[in-house]
Amino acid sequence: MSTNTIKLYDEDSYLSDFSATVISCTAKQIDHQKPLYEVILSATAFFPEGGGQASDTGILNGIPVIDVQEKNEIIYHTLTAPLTEGEVINGSVNQTRRFDFMQQHTGEHILSGLVFKNFGYDNVGFHLGTDTVTVDFSGTFTEEDIRRIEELANDAVFHNIPVVAVYPDKVTLKSLNYRSKKELSGAIRIVTIKGVDTCACCAPHVKFTGEVGLIKVTSYQNYKGGTRLELQCGKRALTDYNKKEKNIQNISVTLSAKIYETDEAVKRLKDEKLSLEAKLTNLTIRLLNLKADSIPSGEEPYILFDYEIPDNQLRHFANLVKERRNGVVGIFIPSAKDSLIMETDEPLEYRYVMCAKAMDVRPMGAELNKSFLGRGGGSKEMVQGSITGRRTDIADFLKNFTF
Ligand SMILES: [Zn+2]
Repeated sequence: MSTNTIKLYDEDSYLSDFSATVISCTAKQIDHQKPLYEVILSATAFFPEGGGQASDTGILNGIPVIDVQEKNEIIYHTLTAPLTEGEVINGSVNQTRRFDFMQQHTGEHILSGLVFKNFGYDNVGFHLGTDTVTVDFSGTFTEEDIRRIEELANDAVFHNIPVVAVYPDKVTLKSLNYRSKKELSGAIRIVTIKGVDTCACCAPHVKFTGEVGLIKVTSYQNYKGGTRLELQCGKRALTDYNKKEKNIQNISVTLSAKIYETDEAVKRLKDEKLSLEAKLTNLTIRLLNLKADSIPSGEEPYILFDYEIPDNQLRHFANLVKERRNGVVGIFIPSAKDSLIMETDEPLEYRYVMCAKAMDVRPMGAELNKSFLGRGGGSKEMVQGSITGRRTDIADFLKNFTF
């Protein structure tokens, strides 16, 4: 039976290196994997996973600590190699990760406290991992609300307010009005940021709000009747700024637009694209009419392989040609993936339409599909589909086809 682990992070959230005695070390059986070891220490600076926050990582006597959990006031460290019971070890918490977590976590307190003060919404969910921080609230916001809260949160940072954690006695605790996610038992730790937030919490925080750095809400969306915010604080906010700045700079260079005018430049580009597409459609229709007009009338099958007819005009064009001919008309265009290939006699996938004024084209379509790995079908007057083959083979097949 182990006694409670002394939580060194409770007193000093900046503590990285510490010494402690190994109380116990047990092998954890995990199938098909290397064995892992669960170590209990007399004291630890490792903060366990909990309340939506991932655990600390680091080393104990040079052995990586890959997970930390707490059960009944005892902290369990998961290691990749064993330690000896009774030995005194040196531990070291990954302080870069810890400080990042402290920035995000304290930023969340500031934001949640201000949301509670200004809107009366509760924080109903929190996730803090290495990539994202999300905070869920029990109500909804407008864009204006979000920016206002963000501004107040950053004001709290600029005022560099102390973040104080204490264990009040029962009488004091009763007189306090504090946020709490669940019914708490045992000694209750109250974290206060004067004028901003009072909250029951056992996690490590920074000492002054100024250390949080910038607090930025990078997105928000309706979530389970409330709102889920995505948050970036401190160095994460800087990294995010840098990524977005790079993105904007690239757009600025590509469009030869000033940084603050890229938005307008992109809109212009989109409008130009739409206008060009409309012009292209008109020109294509004119081109197809001219093409159709130049086709002589006649009885024999008319077969055309064309690289200029767009997919969405294929049926229309085939109908134009059909009106000029008394026999079968077959129009073939390369399928989308091959449409940039210039005229070639290599096997290609073609989209086709076959039609005739007074003839059932279905048997011809069926035979064509059969001979050239095709699929498709249609009505008596028109069949369409796709096939794969050399254009000369396809043309020969159709010229020699007998109904
Ligand atoms: Zn906290």
